[in-house]
Amino acid sequence: MDNETQLYNYMLYLRFLNSKLSGFFDKQKPFIFCKEGCAKCCKNAEFPYSYIEHQYLMAGYAFLDEDTQEMIFNKINKILSDKRNYKGEGFKYDCPFLINDRCSVYNYRGIVCRSFGLLYTKNDRVKVPFCCFEGLNYSNVMNPETKKISEDKVKSLKTDLFPYAYNVSYDFLTNKDFEKGFEFSFGDKKPLIEWFEK
Ligand code: SF4
Ligand code: SF4
Repeated sequence: MDNETQLYNYMLYLRFLNSKLSGFFDKQKPFIFCKEGCAKCCKNAEFPYSYIEHQYLMAGYAFLDEDTQEMIFNKINKILSDKRNYKGEGFKYDCPFLINDRCSVYNYRGIVCRSFGLLYTKNDRVKVPFCCFEGLNYSNVMNPETKKISEDKVKSLKTDLFPYAYNVSYDFLTNKDFEKGFEFSFGDKKPLIEWFEK
C-alpha cells in the first residue's frame, strides 16, 4: 500500500479515535482541568511516536511558516545535542513542537498527545495522569495519602459521574486490531526525538 493511502487511512482512524476520546473526556468533565496553555504534559517526557504518527506530524510541520519551522528545527537540534551528552537512561525533554506553551501542530499531534489526561488502565492496573499530583486532572477526587480515588470526595462534588479508567494506554491505542480495521500500519515506535536522529 502506498504512503498516501496509509496516511489517509490513518486519518480515518484518528477521526474515530477523536470521537471516542472526546466522549470520554466529556464523561469525565468534573475531574478534568485541561485548558489551553496548560502544557505540563508536553514537557519533560519521552513522547512515544510510531512511524505513521511522525509522518503525519511532519505533514503539519510543512504547513507552518518559515520562522516557526526554523524555531522547531533549532529546538530539535538542541535536544539531539543534549541527548548525545546524556549518560543515563530514558532521556526526557520538552517537545520541540511546543511554542509558548501551545502546540504548533495541534491537529497533527500524536496519539499520546490526544489521549493523555484520562484515568486509564494498563496491564489491568489503573493509572492516574501525573498532573493529578500537581493539582490538575482528578486531583479533586484523589486522596493524596492513599493515592487512590476517594469516594467521599466524589460524593462531595454532587455529580452522578464517577471517575472511570478507560482502556486508552498508548500500547492499546496502537495495537494491531486498529491497523487491520483501518488498513494501515503504525510502523516502528520510538521516542519522538529519535525520529530526527540520522
Ligand atoms: S493532561 Fe494535565 S498537564 Fe496535560 S493539559 Fe491536561 S491538565 Fe494539563
Ligand atoms: S506534539 Fe503538540 S501536543 Fe504533542 S507533546 Fe508536542 S506540543 Fe504537546
